Amino acid sequence: MQAVCPICSRSTAQAEPKFIPFCGERCKLVDLGRWFDGDYRIAGESVSPGATRPDDIDYEH
Ligand SMILES: [Zn+2]
Repeated sequence: MQAVCPICSRSTAQAEPKFIPFCGERCKLVDLGRWFDGDYRIAGESVSPGATRPDDIDYEH
């Protein structure tokens, strides 16, 4: 079994355990940055008041 870094696809066989499943600190930070970036974008597209669709509410009955 060979694990590879999900960011750069390099083998993590030589990686420090604290960085697993990434190959190193750099890729771990890249993954972390993606999460923060995603949260930021979702917050920017936050649901505005009045955007709720009546059709969706009907499914709860
Ligand atoms: Zn990597």
